Amino acid sequence: MNGQGTHQPGSQHAQPGVSLRYATPGEPTCEGPGCAQALEPATTGRPARFCSPACRARYHRAAQRARAEPVSVEVDLGSASSRGRPPERAWMVRLRRGQRSVIVTIGLTRAAADRLAAQLTDLLGGGQP
Ligand SMILES: [Zn+2]
Repeated sequence: MNGQGTHQPGSQHAQPGVSLRYATPGEPTCEGPGCAQALEPATTGRPARFCSPACRARYHRAAQRARAEPVSVEVDLGSASSRGRPPERAWMVRLRRGQRSVIVTIGLTRAAADRLAAQLTDLLGGGQP
């Protein structure tokens, strides 16, 4: 036994806001909506993504439904207290499609958030005419 300490490459990029980190699955789980069933690691062929044909069908149905839903832009007041932001700079802009939403940015003034939301709405071609 040679005691090699577990050296973790802790890349601490001080980047507030968006973190582009995908879950690296040590153990694959079912991608079915609302299903967290652990999957058997595939021994041959491509790894399974679903625990059952039902989950596969649900997943594709949900994806189809999500594509049909329009994307809306939301301006909302984020929680300022936890990050120590002044309340006037606590506005966030969020994109929503159905149940899913993505925070585009946070820490804006209301005016900036409104402006960005208007630009996004315009870009998406949706919104109110
Ligand atoms: Zn499943």
